[in-house]
Amino acid sequence: MPNPAIDYSELLNSIAEELKPYHGKGQQATYIPELANRNPDKYGVSLAFLNGDGYTYGDSEERFSIQSISKIFTTAAAFSIRGNALWERVGVEPSGTPFNSLVQLEYEEGKPRNPFINAGAIVVADVLLSELSDPYQGMLDYVRELSRCEDIQYDEQVAASEFDTGYRNASLAFLLKSFDNLENDPKDVLDLYFHFCSIEMSCTELAHASHLFVRRSKLDCKIPDLSTSQLKRLNALMQTCGFYDESGEFAFTVGLPGKSGVGGGIVAVHPDVYGAAVWSPRLNERGNSILGMKTLELLTSKSEMSIF
Ligand code: GLN
Repeated sequence: MPNPAIDYSELLNSIAEELKPYHGKGQQATYIPELANRNPDKYGVSLAFLNGDGYTYGDSEERFSIQSISKIFTTAAAFSIRGNALWERVGVEPSGTPFNSLVQLEYEEGKPRNPFINAGAIVVADVLLSELSDPYQGMLDYVRELSRCEDIQYDEQVAASEFDTGYRNASLAFLLKSFDNLENDPKDVLDLYFHFCSIEMSCTELAHASHLFVRRSKLDCKIPDLSTSQLKRLNALMQTCGFYDESGEFAFTVGLPGKSGVGGGIVAVHPDVYGAAVWSPRLNERGNSILGMKTLELLTSKSEMSIF
């Protein structure tokens, strides 16, 4: 429940004001050509409590490329379908390495550390390619149902742009195949993975969709509902692995399970209470939104709404 003593709209305004010195710091992701030309100075925040109360700031209704935030939805889907067998193919330990690292995958013989780094998410995409009759439509239906927005789409230009230039991801997929950890053709898996990354959603849509992790929900789609135990495990993974080699820092400063993407978005959840999404495309050197992390740090500190 929201704390009745707090004016959350006012809180979001004051956080935006306090963070003005951080505006303009960092760079948007340019390694995906289609993302390089987008306005880096967008800033949106959306806070959605489980009781239905919602608060927003700035560009909260504008859609952006969710990129690696998609990994929490694809992992939830694959886990709900395959159950614990999923963890035979992808681990549950923080990687301590960048999201697109290759070395760890080589010396750990093709089993990615966790599903929230690229190698792990490529294995998850492979599972969905095997399991869903139409995985492209199946994942769209899932995020549409979660966010209650029927017109969420893939950005075909972003997906194609990554397919054409995603050499590191292609290397990861072929390395996974060489270790026999892909069931399908690596090129098909990559195309599906890049599509998942290209999904466009707004902060408010993401904050609603994050309720998947806030409390067990009954969904009307082909992907099965998660059990309470599965929810616990997914939140634990977000807490320990959601920010690559900056996961400790996010836990330390924000104190919530969460997941970032190189489009500048971050989703964070407080189990049983609320989901939040922030968007600011300027990233730090680890690929996480500078203003997004700062916003969530101030939000949980000022409102005392972290899990710790
Ligand atoms: N599509 C991006 C990639 O694979 C996702 C990375 C991210 O958001 N951290 O490189």
